[in-house]
Amino acid sequence: MAEITLKDVRKTYLGGFEAVKGITFDIPDGSFCVLVGPSGCGKSTLLRMVAGVETISSGEVKIGDRVVNNIEPSERDIAMVFQNYALYPHMTVYDNMAYGLRNRKTPKDTIDKLVKDAARILEIEPFLERKPRALSGGQRQRVAMGRAIVRQPKAFLFDEPLSNLDAKLRVSMRVEIKKLQRRFETTSIYVTHDQLEAMTLADQLVVMNGGRVEQMGNPLAIYEKP
Ligand code: ADP
Ligand code: ADP
Repeated sequence: MAEITLKDVRKTYLGGFEAVKGITFDIPDGSFCVLVGPSGCGKSTLLRMVAGVETISSGEVKIGDRVVNNIEPSERDIAMVFQNYALYPHMTVYDNMAYGLRNRKTPKDTIDKLVKDAARILEIEPFLERKPRALSGGQRQRVAMGRAIVRQPKAFLFDEPLSNLDAKLRVSMRVEIKKLQRRFETTSIYVTHDQLEAMTLADQLVVMNGGRVEQMGNPLAIYEKP
């Protein structure tokens, strides 16, 4: 686990468009931070800079006490969950979850224990030998979360993970994510344009607009204001 610190973080895309215009805040260790705001306000760009899949034009991103600006995504000790699941279609659920651990030469029995524990928590044990195509959208998203959990990362980064699911499933998965957060207390950044989702999940809510932070704080305090 680790605190995440953003100091005057900026992103100017090739061509000169400034998508993130100087963002500064801390996400305390173990806290669930939700970035909310209209489409195009720079949420994904900010998240991708923390993940290391987008370069940081200026400013500083720290995970724990380590400045990660020039550190490869694979060395940042974070796990990402996307809306399109990004599962390997030719691998079983088990192998999808084990993949990252095998790459890191984790012992086989450790992998087995981590995968089975996560599968039990996420209630996907019956599907471990299936391929992703034989699962529903909600089940696939559980597998994607399982794959993130088994790596025991310092932080979880979520990019609109529920936006491909139907309304009913979105509500139940929201509860699921909150449960996981309480259990693992892993520092998290969660991007959504859905205010209700943001309210339900956030310890710390960051409202973005036009590449800047418009408001920040406890979700109830923010949305109860007239
Ligand atoms: P959000 O996640 O809030 O919808 P994004 O971070 O995806 O916003 O995008 C912020 C702005 O940056 C948008 O205007 C988008 O079109 C622009 N943008 C995103 N990616 C690129 C890119 N690779 N090159 C140029 N502009 C981009
Ligand atoms: P999201 O808002 O969910 O991040 P988008 O549809 O805005 O997704 O972007 C999808 C992809 O296209 C991203 O990789 C983003 O970097 C890229 N992109 C978005 N806007 C632009 C743009 N104006 N120019 C170039 N690439 C862009």
